[in-house]
Amino acid sequence: MTATELIWLIVYLIAIGIAGIIYWYWHRRTELKFLKRLVTQLSQQHKVRQPLNIATIPYRFIPLYVQLQHLLKQLPPPKGRDKLTGLLNRVGLKAKLTCKMPLTHGMFVLIDIHRFRYVNDLFGFSLGDKLLQALAERLERRIGDKDMLARMNEDEFLIYFNTPMSEAELMVFQQGLAQPISIKGTVINLQLQLGYLELSLHHADVSQMLRRLDLALVRAKSASNYIAAYQEGDDRSQHRQLTIVSCFPKALEQNELYLVFQPKYNLATGNCTHAEALIRWDSSVLGPVSPGEFIPLLECAGMISLLSQWVIDQVLLQQVRWQESDIRLELAINLAIDDLSEKQLSERIITRLKQHGLSAQVLSIEITESQLMTDMVRTVAVLNRLKRAGVKVAIDDFGTGHSSLAYLKHLPVDEVKIDRAFLTGLESDPRAQHIVRSAVDLAKGLDFSVTVEGVEQMPVFKLLQQMGVDKVQGDIYAKPMRAPELEMHWRKLNRPLL
Ligand code: C2E
Ligand code: CA
Ligand code: CA
Repeated sequence: MTATELIWLIVYLIAIGIAGIIYWYWHRRTELKFLKRLVTQLSQQHKVRQPLNIATIPYRFIPLYVQLQHLLKQLPPPKGRDKLTGLLNRVGLKAKLTCKMPLTHGMFVLIDIHRFRYVNDLFGFSLGDKLLQALAERLERRIGDKDMLARMNEDEFLIYFNTPMSEAELMVFQQGLAQPISIKGTVINLQLQLGYLELSLHHADVSQMLRRLDLALVRAKSASNYIAAYQEGDDRSQHRQLTIVSCFPKALEQNELYLVFQPKYNLATGNCTHAEALIRWDSSVLGPVSPGEFIPLLECAGMISLLSQWVIDQVLLQQVRWQESDIRLELAINLAIDDLSEKQLSERIITRLKQHGLSAQVLSIEITESQLMTDMVRTVAVLNRLKRAGVKVAIDDFGTGHSSLAYLKHLPVDEVKIDRAFLTGLESDPRAQHIVRSAVDLAKGLDFSVTVEGVEQMPVFKLLQQMGVDKVQGDIYAKPMRAPELEMHWRKLNRPLL
Protein backbone atom coordinates (compact mmCIF):
# COMPACT_ATOMS: atom_id res chain seq x y z
CA MET A 1 0.00 0.00 0.00
CA THR A 2 1.38 3.37 -1.00
CA ALA A 3 1.61 6.30 1.39
CA THR A 4 -1.24 8.14 -0.41
CA GLU A 5 -3.52 5.08 -0.13
CA LEU A 6 -2.72 4.83 3.56
CA ILE A 7 -3.57 8.50 4.15
CA TRP A 8 -6.90 8.03 2.34
CA LEU A 9 -7.65 4.96 4.41
CA ILE A 10 -7.04 6.89 7.64
CA VAL A 11 -9.21 9.81 6.42
CA TYR A 12 -11.91 7.34 5.45
CA LEU A 13 -11.83 5.66 8.89
CA ILE A 14 -11.92 9.02 10.73
CA ALA A 15 -14.92 10.07 8.60
CA ILE A 16 -16.73 6.82 9.44
CA GLY A 17 -15.90 7.35 13.13
CA ILE A 18 -17.24 10.92 13.17
CA ALA A 19 -20.40 9.83 11.31
CA GLY A 20 -20.83 7.01 13.85
CA ILE A 21 -20.50 9.38 16.81
CA ILE A 22 -23.00 11.85 15.25
CA TYR A 23 -25.42 9.01 14.53
CA TRP A 24 -25.01 7.63 18.09
CA TYR A 25 -25.57 11.02 19.76
CA TRP A 26 -28.59 11.68 17.50
CA HIS A 27 -30.19 8.44 18.60
CA ARG A 28 -29.26 9.01 22.30
CA ARG A 29 -30.31 12.63 22.46
CA THR A 30 -33.37 11.88 24.61
CA GLU A 31 -31.32 9.94 27.15
CA LEU A 32 -28.67 12.64 27.17
CA LYS A 33 -31.25 15.31 27.90
CA PHE A 34 -32.64 13.17 30.70
CA LEU A 35 -29.16 12.60 32.10
CA LYS A 36 -28.46 16.32 31.86
CA ARG A 37 -31.56 17.11 33.90
CA LEU A 38 -30.90 14.35 36.42
CA VAL A 39 -27.31 15.34 37.04
CA THR A 40 -28.25 19.02 37.45
CA GLN A 41 -30.98 18.11 39.90
CA LEU A 42 -28.88 15.67 41.91
CA SER A 43 -25.90 18.03 41.96
CA GLN A 44 -28.10 20.75 43.44
CA GLN A 45 -29.83 18.45 45.91
CA HIS A 46 -26.61 16.94 47.16
CA LYS A 47 -24.48 20.07 46.94
CA VAL A 48 -21.81 18.41 44.79
CA ARG A 49 -18.62 20.42 45.10
CA GLN A 50 -17.72 20.45 41.38
CA PRO A 51 -20.97 20.15 39.46
CA LEU A 52 -20.60 18.93 35.91
CA ASN A 53 -20.61 21.66 33.32
CA ILE A 54 -23.85 20.93 31.47
CA ALA A 55 -22.57 22.48 28.26
CA THR A 56 -19.89 19.84 28.00
CA ILE A 57 -22.25 16.89 28.28
CA PRO A 58 -22.16 15.89 24.61
CA TYR A 59 -18.37 15.60 24.82
CA ARG A 60 -18.24 14.09 28.25
CA PHE A 61 -20.67 11.23 28.25
CA ILE A 62 -18.36 8.87 30.14
CA PRO A 63 -17.46 11.29 32.97
CA LEU A 64 -21.15 12.14 33.16
CA TYR A 65 -21.98 8.47 33.55
CA VAL A 66 -19.30 8.01 36.21
CA GLN A 67 -20.55 11.02 38.15
CA LEU A 68 -24.11 9.78 37.89
CA GLN A 69 -23.09 6.44 39.37
CA HIS A 70 -21.31 8.26 42.19
CA LEU A 71 -24.35 10.39 42.89
CA LEU A 72 -26.63 7.39 42.89
CA LYS A 73 -24.45 5.75 45.55
CA GLN A 74 -24.81 8.84 47.74
CA LEU A 75 -28.58 8.83 47.47
CA PRO A 76 -30.45 7.62 50.53
CA PRO A 77 -32.19 4.27 49.90
CA PRO A 78 -35.89 4.45 49.12
CA LYS A 79 -37.97 4.41 52.29
CA GLY A 80 -38.32 0.91 53.72
CA ARG A 81 -35.37 -0.48 51.72
CA ASP A 82 -31.97 -1.61 52.86
CA LYS A 83 -29.20 0.36 51.18
CA LEU A 84 -26.62 -2.43 50.96
CA THR A 85 -28.76 -5.21 49.51
CA GLY A 86 -31.77 -3.33 48.12
CA LEU A 87 -34.05 -5.69 50.08
CA LEU A 88 -36.86 -4.56 52.35
CA ASN A 89 -35.58 -3.45 55.73
CA ARG A 90 -37.30 -3.99 59.10
CA VAL A 91 -39.49 -0.89 58.68
CA GLY A 92 -40.43 -1.80 55.11
CA LEU A 93 -41.24 -5.36 56.05
CA LYS A 94 -43.35 -4.34 59.03
CA ALA A 95 -45.32 -1.92 56.85
CA LYS A 96 -45.86 -4.56 54.17
CA LEU A 97 -46.86 -7.21 56.68
CA THR A 98 -49.24 -4.90 58.50
CA CYS A 99 -51.13 -4.42 55.22
CA LYS A 100 -51.38 -8.20 54.80
CA MET A 101 -52.66 -8.89 58.32
CA PRO A 102 -54.24 -11.11 59.44
CA LEU A 103 -51.84 -13.63 57.94
CA THR A 104 -53.12 -17.08 58.69
CA HIS A 105 -50.96 -19.34 56.59
CA GLY A 106 -47.34 -19.73 55.52
CA MET A 107 -44.22 -19.50 57.61
CA PHE A 108 -41.53 -17.06 58.69
CA VAL A 109 -37.88 -17.97 58.78
CA LEU A 110 -35.29 -15.76 60.45
CA ILE A 111 -31.74 -16.45 59.24
CA ASP A 112 -28.59 -15.44 61.06
CA ILE A 113 -24.98 -15.86 59.92
CA HIS A 114 -23.10 -17.60 62.71
CA ARG A 115 -20.07 -15.56 63.81
CA PHE A 116 -20.50 -12.93 61.10
CA ARG A 117 -18.58 -10.52 63.37
CA TYR A 118 -15.45 -12.63 62.79
CA VAL A 119 -15.75 -12.14 59.01
CA ASN A 120 -15.67 -8.36 59.55
CA ASP A 121 -12.85 -8.64 62.07
CA LEU A 122 -10.75 -10.96 59.93
CA PHE A 123 -11.35 -9.71 56.39
CA GLY A 124 -12.67 -6.18 56.86
CA PHE A 125 -16.06 -4.52 56.46
CA SER A 126 -15.91 -4.28 52.68
CA LEU A 127 -15.67 -8.06 52.35
CA GLY A 128 -18.34 -8.43 55.02
CA ASP A 129 -20.63 -6.21 52.93
CA LYS A 130 -19.93 -8.27 49.81
CA LEU A 131 -20.79 -11.43 51.71
CA LEU A 132 -24.11 -9.97 52.80
CA GLN A 133 -24.87 -8.92 49.21
CA ALA A 134 -23.99 -12.37 47.91
CA LEU A 135 -26.21 -14.03 50.49
CA ALA A 136 -29.05 -11.60 49.70
CA GLU A 137 -28.77 -12.58 46.02
CA ARG A 138 -28.83 -16.28 46.92
CA LEU A 139 -31.93 -15.73 49.00
CA GLU A 140 -33.64 -13.77 46.23
CA ARG A 141 -33.04 -16.62 43.81
CA ARG A 142 -34.70 -19.04 46.21
CA ILE A 143 -37.95 -17.28 46.94
CA GLY A 144 -41.15 -17.27 44.93
CA ASP A 145 -43.48 -14.49 43.79
CA LYS A 146 -45.73 -14.83 46.79
CA ASP A 147 -42.86 -14.89 49.31
CA MET A 148 -41.22 -11.92 51.02
CA LEU A 149 -37.60 -11.24 51.85
CA ALA A 150 -36.07 -8.60 54.10
CA ARG A 151 -32.78 -7.74 55.77
CA MET A 152 -33.69 -7.19 59.41
CA ASN A 153 -30.35 -5.98 60.76
CA GLU A 154 -26.65 -6.48 60.19
CA ASP A 155 -26.56 -10.21 59.46
CA GLU A 156 -30.18 -11.26 59.88
CA PHE A 157 -32.52 -11.96 57.01
CA LEU A 158 -36.19 -12.78 57.22
CA ILE A 159 -38.25 -14.73 54.69
CA TYR A 160 -41.96 -15.16 54.60
CA PHE A 161 -42.80 -18.36 52.73
CA ASN A 162 -46.33 -18.51 51.43
CA THR A 163 -46.11 -22.30 51.51
CA PRO A 164 -44.62 -23.68 54.75
CA MET A 165 -41.73 -26.16 54.74
CA SER A 166 -41.08 -29.11 57.02
CA GLU A 167 -37.96 -29.03 59.19
CA ALA A 168 -36.31 -31.58 56.85
CA GLU A 169 -37.00 -29.29 53.88
CA LEU A 170 -35.63 -26.36 55.86
CA MET A 171 -32.41 -28.31 56.43
CA VAL A 172 -32.00 -28.80 52.68
CA PHE A 173 -32.74 -25.08 52.19
CA GLN A 174 -30.16 -24.21 54.85
CA GLN A 175 -27.51 -26.42 53.24
CA GLY A 176 -28.14 -24.92 49.80
CA LEU A 177 -27.78 -21.40 51.17
CA ALA A 178 -24.68 -22.18 53.17
CA GLN A 179 -22.51 -23.28 50.22
CA PRO A 180 -19.10 -21.55 50.48
CA ILE A 181 -19.02 -18.08 48.93
CA SER A 182 -15.92 -16.89 47.10
CA ILE A 183 -15.25 -13.16 47.28
CA LYS A 184 -12.16 -11.65 45.66
CA GLY A 185 -10.40 -15.01 45.93
CA THR A 186 -11.35 -15.52 49.59
CA VAL A 187 -13.57 -18.53 50.16
CA ILE A 188 -15.89 -18.07 53.11
CA ASN A 189 -17.71 -20.99 54.68
CA LEU A 190 -21.08 -20.03 56.01
CA GLN A 191 -22.93 -21.46 58.95
CA LEU A 192 -26.53 -20.32 59.03
CA GLN A 193 -28.90 -20.46 61.98
CA LEU A 194 -32.63 -20.60 61.27
CA GLY A 195 -35.46 -19.79 63.67
CA TYR A 196 -38.93 -20.37 62.25
CA LEU A 197 -42.58 -19.82 63.05
CA GLU A 198 -45.58 -21.47 61.41
CA LEU A 199 -48.49 -19.12 61.00
CA SER A 200 -51.23 -21.70 61.06
CA LEU A 201 -50.32 -22.25 64.70
CA HIS A 202 -49.73 -18.70 65.86
CA HIS A 203 -51.93 -15.74 65.16
CA ALA A 204 -50.41 -12.60 66.51
CA ASP A 205 -49.66 -9.03 65.56
CA VAL A 206 -46.56 -8.24 63.52
CA SER A 207 -44.36 -7.08 66.42
CA GLN A 208 -45.24 -10.12 68.47
CA MET A 209 -44.52 -12.43 65.54
CA LEU A 210 -41.11 -10.83 65.04
CA ARG A 211 -40.36 -11.16 68.76
CA ARG A 212 -41.32 -14.82 68.63
CA LEU A 213 -39.00 -15.32 65.67
CA ASP A 214 -36.16 -13.80 67.68
CA LEU A 215 -36.89 -16.32 70.42
CA ALA A 216 -36.88 -19.16 67.87
CA LEU A 217 -33.49 -17.95 66.65
CA VAL A 218 -32.13 -17.95 70.20
CA ARG A 219 -33.28 -21.58 70.43
CA ALA A 220 -31.68 -22.37 67.03
CA LYS A 221 -28.29 -21.15 68.24
CA SER A 222 -28.07 -24.06 70.66
CA ALA A 223 -29.82 -26.67 68.45
CA SER A 224 -27.60 -29.39 66.97
CA ASN A 225 -28.66 -28.56 63.38
CA TYR A 226 -28.97 -24.81 64.07
CA ILE A 227 -32.69 -24.90 63.22
CA ALA A 228 -35.49 -24.39 65.73
CA ALA A 229 -39.14 -23.46 65.79
CA TYR A 230 -40.76 -20.98 68.13
CA GLN A 231 -42.41 -22.93 70.91
CA GLU A 232 -45.43 -22.00 72.94
CA GLY A 233 -44.09 -20.74 76.27
CA ASP A 234 -40.92 -19.12 74.89
CA ASP A 235 -42.61 -15.73 75.45
CA ARG A 236 -43.40 -16.64 79.01
CA SER A 237 -39.85 -17.72 79.80
CA GLN A 238 -38.48 -14.52 78.26
CA HIS A 239 -40.94 -12.52 80.31
CA ARG A 240 -39.83 -14.37 83.45
CA GLN A 241 -36.17 -13.68 82.69
CA LEU A 242 -36.87 -9.98 82.26
CA THR A 243 -38.86 -9.93 85.51
CA ILE A 244 -36.00 -11.64 87.36
CA VAL A 245 -33.44 -9.12 86.17
CA SER A 246 -35.66 -6.10 86.76
CA CYS A 247 -36.82 -7.24 90.23
CA PHE A 248 -33.36 -8.09 91.50
CA PRO A 249 -32.07 -4.67 92.67
CA LYS A 250 -35.29 -4.09 94.65
CA ALA A 251 -35.09 -7.59 96.08
CA LEU A 252 -31.70 -6.69 97.57
CA GLU A 253 -33.13 -3.57 99.20
CA GLN A 254 -36.19 -5.38 100.50
CA ASN A 255 -34.24 -8.22 102.11
CA GLU A 256 -35.69 -10.93 99.91
CA LEU A 257 -32.25 -12.54 99.65
CA TYR A 258 -30.55 -14.57 102.32
CA LEU A 259 -27.62 -16.92 102.67
CA VAL A 260 -27.54 -20.59 103.52
CA PHE A 261 -24.38 -22.45 104.38
CA GLN A 262 -23.35 -25.94 103.40
CA PRO A 263 -20.62 -27.50 105.55
CA LYS A 264 -17.55 -29.20 104.13
CA TYR A 265 -16.39 -32.15 106.22
CA ASN A 266 -12.78 -32.96 106.82
CA LEU A 267 -12.34 -36.69 106.18
CA ALA A 268 -9.13 -37.03 108.18
CA THR A 269 -10.45 -35.47 111.38
CA GLY A 270 -14.22 -35.73 110.94
CA ASN A 271 -14.39 -32.06 111.92
CA CYS A 272 -16.43 -29.41 110.21
CA THR A 273 -14.15 -26.42 109.75
CA HIS A 274 -15.31 -25.05 106.42
CA ALA A 275 -18.66 -24.13 104.86
CA GLU A 276 -19.82 -22.63 101.59
CA ALA A 277 -22.21 -19.67 101.46
CA LEU A 278 -25.00 -20.14 98.92
CA ILE A 279 -27.52 -17.51 97.97
CA ARG A 280 -31.30 -17.94 98.19
CA TRP A 281 -34.02 -15.62 96.88
CA ASP A 282 -37.62 -15.64 98.04
CA SER A 283 -39.07 -13.15 95.61
CA SER A 284 -42.27 -11.32 96.56
CA VAL A 285 -43.19 -11.36 92.86
CA LEU A 286 -42.01 -14.76 91.64
CA GLY A 287 -41.75 -16.88 94.77
CA PRO A 288 -38.51 -18.82 95.36
CA VAL A 289 -36.03 -18.41 92.48
CA SER A 290 -33.07 -20.78 92.36
CA PRO A 291 -29.52 -19.44 92.03
CA GLY A 292 -29.05 -21.74 89.04
CA GLU A 293 -31.71 -19.65 87.31
CA PHE A 294 -31.02 -16.08 88.37
CA ILE A 295 -27.21 -16.05 88.63
CA PRO A 296 -26.55 -16.68 84.90
CA LEU A 297 -29.13 -13.96 84.12
CA LEU A 298 -27.42 -11.48 86.43
CA GLU A 299 -24.12 -12.36 84.78
CA CYS A 300 -25.60 -11.69 81.33
CA ALA A 301 -27.12 -8.43 82.52
CA GLY A 302 -23.80 -7.29 84.01
CA MET A 303 -25.35 -7.16 87.52
CA ILE A 304 -23.49 -9.97 89.25
CA SER A 305 -21.15 -7.67 91.22
CA LEU A 306 -24.20 -6.21 92.94
CA LEU A 307 -24.93 -9.66 94.33
CA SER A 308 -21.31 -10.50 95.11
CA GLN A 309 -20.79 -7.32 97.11
CA TRP A 310 -23.90 -8.11 99.12
CA VAL A 311 -22.72 -11.69 99.73
CA ILE A 312 -19.24 -10.52 100.82
CA ASP A 313 -20.77 -8.06 103.30
CA GLN A 314 -23.23 -10.61 104.67
CA VAL A 315 -20.56 -13.30 105.06
CA LEU A 316 -18.23 -10.93 106.89
CA LEU A 317 -21.03 -9.74 109.19
CA GLN A 318 -21.84 -13.37 109.93
CA GLN A 319 -18.19 -14.02 110.71
CA VAL A 320 -18.14 -11.09 113.13
CA ARG A 321 -21.11 -12.65 114.96
CA TRP A 322 -19.51 -16.10 115.00
CA GLN A 323 -16.19 -14.77 116.18
CA GLU A 324 -18.02 -13.32 119.16
CA SER A 325 -19.54 -16.75 119.88
CA ASP A 326 -16.19 -18.50 119.34
CA ILE A 327 -17.37 -20.35 116.27
CA ARG A 328 -14.47 -20.89 113.91
CA LEU A 329 -15.53 -21.70 110.35
CA GLU A 330 -13.91 -20.66 107.12
CA LEU A 331 -16.65 -19.45 104.80
CA ALA A 332 -16.32 -19.80 101.05
CA ILE A 333 -18.07 -17.40 98.69
CA ASN A 334 -18.75 -18.03 95.02
CA LEU A 335 -17.48 -15.34 92.69
CA ALA A 336 -18.08 -14.87 88.99
CA ILE A 337 -15.53 -13.88 86.36
CA ASP A 338 -17.03 -10.37 86.12
CA ASP A 339 -16.30 -9.87 89.81
CA LEU A 340 -12.68 -10.72 89.22
CA SER A 341 -12.41 -8.38 86.25
CA GLU A 342 -13.22 -5.58 88.67
CA LYS A 343 -9.95 -4.20 89.92
CA GLN A 344 -11.44 -2.94 93.17
CA LEU A 345 -12.79 -6.32 94.23
CA SER A 346 -9.64 -7.57 95.94
CA GLU A 347 -9.11 -4.18 97.60
CA ARG A 348 -12.74 -4.13 98.69
CA ILE A 349 -12.45 -7.55 100.33
CA ILE A 350 -9.18 -6.64 102.03
CA THR A 351 -10.58 -3.30 103.29
CA ARG A 352 -13.78 -4.90 104.57
CA LEU A 353 -11.81 -7.56 106.45
CA LYS A 354 -9.79 -4.82 108.13
CA GLN A 355 -12.89 -2.74 108.91
CA HIS A 356 -14.44 -5.71 110.68
CA GLY A 357 -11.20 -6.63 112.41
CA LEU A 358 -11.28 -10.08 110.81
CA SER A 359 -8.31 -12.16 109.71
CA ALA A 360 -8.22 -13.23 106.05
CA GLN A 361 -8.52 -16.85 107.15
CA VAL A 362 -12.25 -16.49 107.74
CA LEU A 363 -12.86 -16.20 104.02
CA SER A 364 -12.15 -18.17 100.87
CA ILE A 365 -13.21 -17.80 97.27
CA GLU A 366 -14.61 -20.30 94.81
CA ILE A 367 -14.40 -19.65 91.10
CA THR A 368 -15.51 -22.17 88.52
CA GLU A 369 -12.90 -23.71 86.28
CA SER A 370 -14.69 -22.60 83.11
CA GLN A 371 -14.85 -18.98 84.31
CA LEU A 372 -11.22 -19.10 85.32
CA MET A 373 -10.29 -20.17 81.81
CA THR A 374 -12.17 -17.34 80.08
CA ASP A 375 -9.73 -14.60 81.10
CA MET A 376 -6.93 -16.32 82.90
CA VAL A 377 -4.33 -13.57 82.83
CA ARG A 378 -6.57 -11.00 84.51
CA THR A 379 -8.17 -13.47 86.90
CA VAL A 380 -4.84 -14.84 88.07
CA ALA A 381 -3.62 -11.30 88.82
CA VAL A 382 -6.65 -10.63 91.07
CA LEU A 383 -6.41 -14.04 92.72
CA ASN A 384 -2.71 -13.46 93.43
CA ARG A 385 -3.52 -10.20 95.20
CA LEU A 386 -6.11 -11.97 97.34
CA LYS A 387 -3.76 -14.82 98.10
CA ARG A 388 -1.06 -12.41 99.19
CA ALA A 389 -3.60 -10.96 101.61
CA GLY A 390 -4.22 -14.48 102.99
CA VAL A 391 -7.57 -15.29 101.31
CA LYS A 392 -7.68 -18.88 100.02
CA VAL A 393 -8.88 -19.75 96.54
CA ALA A 394 -10.64 -22.87 95.23
CA ILE A 395 -11.35 -24.01 91.65
CA ASP A 396 -15.04 -24.92 91.64
CA ASP A 397 -16.61 -27.60 89.40
CA PHE A 398 -13.13 -28.95 88.69
CA GLY A 399 -13.01 -31.24 85.67
CA THR A 400 -15.82 -29.55 83.76
CA GLY A 401 -14.03 -26.48 82.43
CA HIS A 402 -11.41 -27.97 80.09
CA SER A 403 -8.50 -26.32 81.84
CA SER A 404 -5.18 -27.05 80.28
CA LEU A 405 -3.15 -29.21 82.60
CA ALA A 406 -0.09 -27.16 81.76
CA TYR A 407 -1.69 -24.11 83.36
CA LEU A 408 -2.69 -25.76 86.59
CA LYS A 409 0.71 -25.42 88.20
CA HIS A 410 0.66 -21.66 87.64
CA LEU A 411 -2.72 -21.08 89.23
CA PRO A 412 -2.71 -19.39 92.62
CA VAL A 413 -5.05 -21.98 94.05
CA ASP A 414 -5.28 -23.86 97.35
CA GLU A 415 -8.18 -26.20 96.72
CA VAL A 416 -9.97 -27.97 93.88
CA LYS A 417 -13.59 -29.00 94.18
CA ILE A 418 -14.31 -32.01 91.99
CA ASP A 419 -17.70 -31.64 90.36
CA ARG A 420 -20.51 -33.97 91.32
CA ALA A 421 -20.93 -34.98 87.67
CA PHE A 422 -17.96 -37.33 88.21
CA LEU A 423 -19.80 -39.24 90.91
CA THR A 424 -22.43 -40.72 88.59
CA GLY A 425 -22.08 -44.50 88.67
CA LEU A 426 -18.83 -44.22 90.65
CA GLU A 427 -19.52 -47.14 92.98
CA SER A 428 -19.95 -49.62 90.10
CA ASP A 429 -17.90 -48.24 87.20
CA PRO A 430 -14.11 -48.87 87.41
CA ARG A 431 -13.47 -46.38 84.59
CA ALA A 432 -15.32 -43.62 86.48
CA GLN A 433 -13.24 -44.53 89.54
CA HIS A 434 -10.06 -44.31 87.50
CA ILE A 435 -10.97 -40.80 86.32
CA VAL A 436 -11.72 -39.50 89.84
CA ARG A 437 -8.61 -41.16 91.27
CA SER A 438 -6.45 -39.56 88.56
CA ALA A 439 -8.00 -36.14 89.23
CA VAL A 440 -7.38 -36.51 92.97
CA ASP A 441 -3.77 -37.64 92.39
CA LEU A 442 -3.14 -34.80 89.95
CA ALA A 443 -4.49 -32.19 92.38
CA LYS A 444 -2.66 -33.61 95.37
CA GLY A 445 0.55 -33.82 93.34
CA LEU A 446 0.25 -30.08 92.82
CA ASP A 447 -0.32 -29.54 96.55
CA PHE A 448 -3.97 -28.64 96.25
CA SER A 449 -6.44 -29.70 98.88
CA VAL A 450 -9.21 -31.83 97.30
CA THR A 451 -12.92 -31.49 98.06
CA VAL A 452 -15.59 -33.54 96.34
CA GLU A 453 -19.05 -32.01 96.14
CA GLY A 454 -22.51 -33.52 95.80
CA VAL A 455 -21.76 -36.70 97.78
CA GLU A 456 -25.07 -38.40 98.48
CA GLN A 457 -24.29 -42.08 99.10
CA MET A 458 -22.19 -43.97 101.62
CA PRO A 459 -20.42 -46.31 99.08
CA VAL A 460 -19.29 -43.23 97.15
CA PHE A 461 -18.14 -41.58 100.33
CA LYS A 462 -16.09 -44.69 101.27
CA LEU A 463 -14.44 -44.80 97.84
CA LEU A 464 -13.50 -41.12 98.08
CA GLN A 465 -12.02 -41.69 101.50
CA GLN A 466 -9.84 -44.49 100.06
CA MET A 467 -8.72 -42.22 97.25
CA GLY A 468 -7.32 -39.70 99.72
CA VAL A 469 -9.88 -36.92 99.26
CA ASP A 470 -9.52 -34.25 101.96
CA LYS A 471 -13.06 -32.93 102.32
CA VAL A 472 -16.53 -33.86 101.14
CA GLN A 473 -19.61 -31.74 100.79
CA GLY A 474 -23.06 -33.06 100.04
CA ASP A 475 -26.46 -34.15 101.20
CA ILE A 476 -24.93 -37.22 102.86
CA TYR A 477 -23.76 -34.96 105.67
CA ALA A 478 -25.75 -31.81 105.44
CA LYS A 479 -27.86 -29.86 103.04
CA PRO A 480 -27.38 -26.09 102.93
CA MET A 481 -28.83 -24.52 106.10
CA ARG A 482 -29.46 -21.13 107.73
CA ALA A 483 -26.84 -19.65 110.06
CA PRO A 484 -28.47 -20.55 113.43
CA GLU A 485 -28.90 -24.16 112.29
CA LEU A 486 -25.29 -24.34 111.18
CA GLU A 487 -24.25 -22.90 114.49
CA MET A 488 -26.02 -25.76 116.33
CA HIS A 489 -24.60 -28.27 113.88
CA TRP A 490 -21.12 -26.95 114.36
CA ARG A 491 -21.38 -27.22 118.13
CA LYS A 492 -22.75 -30.75 117.87
CA LEU A 493 -20.63 -32.07 115.03
CA ASN A 494 -17.28 -30.43 115.50
CA ARG A 495 -15.90 -33.77 116.52
CA PRO A 496 -15.12 -36.96 114.53
CA LEU A 497 -18.22 -38.10 112.73
CA LEU A 498 -17.42 -41.60 111.53
P1 C2E B 1 -22.00 -24.65 93.28
O1 C2E B 1 -21.05 -23.57 93.67
O2 C2E B 1 -21.42 -25.84 92.60
O3 C2E B 1 -22.78 -25.07 94.58
C1 C2E B 1 -23.12 -26.36 94.89
C2 C2E B 1 -24.53 -26.62 94.52
O4 C2E B 1 -24.79 -28.01 94.70
C3 C2E B 1 -25.52 -25.91 95.43
O5 C2E B 1 -26.67 -25.63 94.66
C4 C2E B 1 -25.84 -26.97 96.46
O6 C2E B 1 -27.07 -26.77 97.10
C5 C2E B 1 -25.87 -28.20 95.59
N1 C2E B 1 -25.58 -29.42 96.35
C6 C2E B 1 -24.77 -29.58 97.40
N2 C2E B 1 -24.75 -30.87 97.80
C7 C2E B 1 -25.54 -31.56 96.97
C8 C2E B 1 -25.92 -32.95 96.85
O7 C2E B 1 -25.50 -33.82 97.60
N3 C2E B 1 -26.74 -33.29 95.84
C9 C2E B 1 -27.21 -32.35 94.99
N4 C2E B 1 -28.02 -32.76 94.01
N5 C2E B 1 -26.90 -31.04 95.05
C10 C2E B 1 -26.05 -30.65 96.04
P2 C2E B 1 -27.34 -24.22 94.68
O8 C2E B 1 -27.33 -23.64 96.04
O9 C2E B 1 -28.64 -24.37 93.98
O10 C2E B 1 -26.35 -23.35 93.81
C11 C2E B 1 -26.20 -23.59 92.47
C12 C2E B 1 -25.08 -22.77 91.92
O11 C2E B 1 -25.39 -21.39 91.97
C13 C2E B 1 -23.81 -22.91 92.74
O12 C2E B 1 -23.15 -24.08 92.34
C14 C2E B 1 -23.07 -21.67 92.35
O13 C2E B 1 -22.42 -21.83 91.13
C15 C2E B 1 -24.19 -20.69 92.19
N6 C2E B 1 -24.29 -19.87 93.40
C16 C2E B 1 -24.95 -20.12 94.56
N7 C2E B 1 -24.80 -19.09 95.41
C17 C2E B 1 -24.02 -18.18 94.77
C18 C2E B 1 -23.52 -16.88 95.12
O14 C2E B 1 -23.70 -16.35 96.23
N8 C2E B 1 -22.78 -16.23 94.17
C19 C2E B 1 -22.50 -16.78 92.97
N9 C2E B 1 -21.76 -16.09 92.09
N10 C2E B 1 -22.95 -17.99 92.62
C20 C2E B 1 -23.70 -18.68 93.51
CA1 CA C 1 -19.26 -23.38 94.77
CA1 CA D 1 -19.47 -26.57 92.47
